Amino acid sequence: MGKVAFITGATRGIGKAIALRFAKDGYDIALNYRKENEELNQTKSEIKKNGVKCFAVSGDVSAYEDCERMAKEIIENLGSIDCLVNNAGITKDMLLMRMKEEDFRQVIDVNLVGTFNVTKTVIPFMMKARQGRIINISSVVGVAGNAGQANYAASKAGIIGFTKSLAKEVASRNILVNSVAPGFIQTDMTAVLKDEVKDEIAKSIPLKRMGTADDVANVIAFLASDAASYITGQVINVDGGMLM
Ligand code: NAP
Repeated sequence: MGKVAFITGATRGIGKAIALRFAKDGYDIALNYRKENEELNQTKSEIKKNGVKCFAVSGDVSAYEDCERMAKEIIENLGSIDCLVNNAGITKDMLLMRMKEEDFRQVIDVNLVGTFNVTKTVIPFMMKARQGRIINISSVVGVAGNAGQANYAASKAGIIGFTKSLAKEVASRNILVNSVAPGFIQTDMTAVLKDEVKDEIAKSIPLKRMGTADDVANVIAFLASDAASYITGQVINVDGGMLM
């Protein structure tokens, strides 16, 4: 049986690019989505063009019962989970003075608790298999902070602490846990920014451009590969040199 990659929030943006990259590398794909829509159908058919299986599994990562069900259904349908990518994430940007408690809590619930929920329900299968790769998507904002993103930064910094702790806990079982911290990447998440703001950001980046979802997916594919078998507990910035 082929290797299986489970990617959360994979119908669009960085998650979709990761799913397609893994499919090109021959992995069967477990694709998490929230609602059935045209984007889901499109992503599924693009994945299947690579001759691999694609099992779409619905669920909200912030709901523990959904995550338990998703892990079970993936094992039943695809047989294993060799690589987990915790990609699903949201922003609710606001200066702290105006940020509502529910906006703080919701971002933590999806980004950080969601990463816990999915990992906690998947890891027993990796422990049993005595192998696995877990890659958690953080952000440069989790490393350096950003005005207007206290909730998001806290969630992404939390993911880094979670990654390093878990890496220490499960290394003896040959389960490698790393984090990728993207900079400014062209997706729906950053499409809300005005063109002038995007231009200003691009100018401040040493490589003078925003990143693409493929820039991030390529590094994740590397961390999942045999070439990265001596790397665990790390945070890899994929940011065109924003943070050095
Ligand atoms: P995006 O285009 O907004 O896509 C986010 C994905 O997450 C969507 O598929 C969305 O599903 C899913 N999602 C949101 N809440 C979910 C939930 N509760 N349960 C399951 N899925 C959920 O964002 P992106 O730019 O691709 O970002 C992907 C990851 O990279 C996020 O963790 C983000 O924080 C991180 N990141 C992005 C950037 C950037 O510049 N774009 C930079 C650093 C880090 P729906 O389609 O159902 O909404």
